[in-house]
Amino acid sequence: MRVDSMSSIYSFDDLQLQLIDDNKEFNTDLGRFMKEKWNLANRGFEYNVVAVFGSQSTGKSTLLNRLFHTNFSVMDEQSRQQTTKGIWLSEARERPMIIMDVEGTDGRERGEEQDFERKSALFSLAISEVLIINMWENMVGLYQGANMGLLKTVLDVNLQLFQNKGAARTLLLFVIRDFVGNTPLQNLQKTIEDDMHKIWNELSKPENLQNSEISDFFDFMFIGLPHKVFKNEQFEAEVKLLKKRFYDKDDPNYVFKPDYHRRIPADGFPQYAQSIWDKVINNKDLDIPTQQHLLAQYRCEEIAKEAYDVFLNKIAPYKEKLDNGEIIDDLGKDLLEYRDNAIKNFSIEGCRYRQDIYEKKKKDFLDQMNNTLYTYYLSQMSNAQKAVVEDFKNKFNDKVIDGNNDFQNTFETLYNSALNDFQEVADDITLPQTNWNSNDIFKKLKEELNTIANNIRRKKVNEIRFMVDKQLRKEVISCVRSSLNENITESLWEDLFDRYTVIVEQNVNNFINKASIYSCEENELAHISKELRKASWDAFYDAIFDETKDTLMIIRLKEKFESIFRYDNNGLPKVWKPGDDIDGQFQHSLSESYKICDLFNRIDIPIKKIKEVTELDNIDEDSLVIIEPSKKKMLLNRFRNTVEILYIDAKHSVVSTTSE
Ligand code: GDP
Ligand code: MG
Repeated sequence: MRVDSMSSIYSFDDLQLQLIDDNKEFNTDLGRFMKEKWNLANRGFEYNVVAVFGSQSTGKSTLLNRLFHTNFSVMDEQSRQQTTKGIWLSEARERPMIIMDVEGTDGRERGEEQDFERKSALFSLAISEVLIINMWENMVGLYQGANMGLLKTVLDVNLQLFQNKGAARTLLLFVIRDFVGNTPLQNLQKTIEDDMHKIWNELSKPENLQNSEISDFFDFMFIGLPHKVFKNEQFEAEVKLLKKRFYDKDDPNYVFKPDYHRRIPADGFPQYAQSIWDKVINNKDLDIPTQQHLLAQYRCEEIAKEAYDVFLNKIAPYKEKLDNGEIIDDLGKDLLEYRDNAIKNFSIEGCRYRQDIYEKKKKDFLDQMNNTLYTYYLSQMSNAQKAVVEDFKNKFNDKVIDGNNDFQNTFETLYNSALNDFQEVADDITLPQTNWNSNDIFKKLKEELNTIANNIRRKKVNEIRFMVDKQLRKEVISCVRSSLNENITESLWEDLFDRYTVIVEQNVNNFINKASIYSCEENELAHISKELRKASWDAFYDAIFDETKDTLMIIRLKEKFESIFRYDNNGLPKVWKPGDDIDGQFQHSLSESYKICDLFNRIDIPIKKIKEVTELDNIDEDSLVIIEPSKKKMLLNRFRNTVEILYIDAKHSVVSTTSE
């Protein structure tokens, strides 16, 4: 606070503040005073503002000090020295009241002085609920006297700047000093009231206030105080009574009516007072509602910011955990509590400001917090999604590996329990008053679970397919081998194909049976069955060609040949005797072998039948040819060469037996 040359003479109580100094500067320490020295800042609407107006040295400060136990400086009787110019603020004792004392100079030098007087008066009028107008009794009725002239100007500007319909009203409490009582108070009162109405009528009123009455904006109250020096006892007694009007709510003349209150919460008062002073100083056009609007915005934002900082501090520790992939128990409950608390903290102070602004700022604040919380929501959901998927995968794998045959049931049970687990997390973390939506995340989760199950199923089905495929080929090959090497008859191909068909059908059925527990789709089974059939045909076909290579064919023919030429019907080796028809036997054996060879011209199975069993449609006649005619000739030549030795041997054996 300012200390000037007067400080040695006058005691400046630490509890008062020079709000406006003689340079018309506004003291921004007000906020600190409200908070630290006066304990008023957290009073909400529970405080009142009283100001005083009147000529110099009419005992204003003396009266305020008596009424409110303030310590405003009073002019020293002896030295008649001036008090320090400015607007002074102090708190009252025992009640949350802000008391405003105005010190001017004597008003002797006009000009600059008048400007200060007018401005401080306008300021007092704009922000106080009760304005004490202090005047000597002998000034009453002196319309041209300092007071009324000034009052007129002030009311005029006040009306232009601060008033409109529905604005707060003000009590003008006229205190008549050195009231002797010769003229009854009622008469003085009447004189003043007449003056006030006269002033009011002369004011240039704004368009919308043309028909307004002074009583729309002001109430009047009148009181006379005896001479402080000559009638000191009565003076003190009257002041005591007057004091009751400020302190005692039950006093019939209690001064603070609700509609006098400016509806500025105490914590917003410094900002408000400063803005009013700025407007007064700059004499800008404005009205109180605009001020209140701006103030409400400013303060609500400030209050929200404070509450938001607290909120952020509370929720920050959770962030790290979430980033580590944790799923935090009761996270939603905790976050909601912090959000609720933040809104509550915001509301306590914010609700005193203009309702529409407050509601809007509250909504903004909620949105702001929800935006921040949304990242928490997403993290928790994503952590839960990962955990649920991992858990599902493990359990499912275990169950399937365990040889659990009820694949579909297992899947459905685990799938539903995974979704339930996830739903629980989602329910906890989805806060009320948000538009967060988990549909997409749920959809993704379902897809993931299905993909996992499908992969496992596909893997299992492939294992079965692989096993069946191996078995099928093995059986086909061995069937071909035995058929082509056993006693070959005319019905070779028909018999072979019959056997082949049985093998294919058995194995495909086997596959379908085994795979069906994995509840594959029809067409997937059909597709794999078809592949198996094709593979079986390839094995069949390749085995036939393997078994009909030249060397094997020659052996086959030779065996046939020998079985007739060298062995009798009982399977015993023949012993040729003279006269045996070796030539005839030789020819017969040859022709029987040729018949066999003819059987191997081609795989003699009707294409239609093959297509039925193998489900192949690209089989043509040419592919079924085993031994080309040109090749056959060569083959038979080689065959003949081999068996001709047998013929000669037979001939020799006869010759040798006869020669013995
Ligand atoms: P302010 O300038 O209006 O604040 O007046 P002060 O309170 O400083 O008082 C100015 C002088 O008037 C001081 O010397 C006071 O003692 C004196 N004074 C205070 N109250 C009264 C009163 O009721 N009647 C008279 N005659 N003098 C008073
Ligand atoms: Mg004074």
